Amino acid sequence: MKSILIVEDIAETRRWLSEIAAEAFPGCVVEEAASMRTGIARVASVDFDMAMIDLGLPDGSGLEVLRNLRLVRPETVCVVTTVMGDDAHIVAALSAGADGYLLKEQPEDLLARQLRQLAQGIPALTPSIARRIMEHFRYTGPAADAEDELTSRETQVLAMIGRGLRNAEVAADMKIAESTVAGYIKTIYRKLGISSRAEAAWHAARMGLVAPRK
Ligand code: CA
Repeated sequence: MKSILIVEDIAETRRWLSEIAAEAFPGCVVEEAASMRTGIARVASVDFDMAMIDLGLPDGSGLEVLRNLRLVRPETVCVVTTVMGDDAHIVAALSAGADGYLLKEQPEDLLARQLRQLAQGIPALTPSIARRIMEHFRYTGPAADAEDELTSRETQVLAMIGRGLRNAEVAADMKIAESTVAGYIKTIYRKLGISSRAEAAWHAARMGLVAPRK
């Protein structure tokens, strides 16, 4: 990893992350961006080896930087470095193509080690997050079984909510009542063992129902 971009709005945290990057990759060139717009502009003009991206930025979400990166620089290793460890953010980042999701509360030496790991092509997750993802699969059971149970109409609804459509839009598209859509969604949630739109989107992407954001 010779060139690294750090997208982070807090100056102190930027410096701290730069030091960790320098520790992980001695001699690397670190460039910093303090906003979403600057981050997007930098990835458009420079081919970074790695990008460390914060999610909460003053002018928007780091996810936008991540999506742009995936679009224009598929080779860049992307890692989200954030304080937000909730399921919705994790699912959104992973489905947007993040190679890693690291919480900034982690010890420095672990962060440096995980950055080196990412450089070797090994995905990196903060241990507590890796455990949560494993737990998710423990409770949802084998995905193949759940998939087989969805009817073609349910699959159709899942594909549409996976693309971010609201119930009313799904109803209009399928020419059915909104309450029928709600009924389909309830059944889909039960069959997949999920409870949120973010998880539904994740399953839709996993089942190839929505085009991956690349
Ligand atoms: Ca922030």
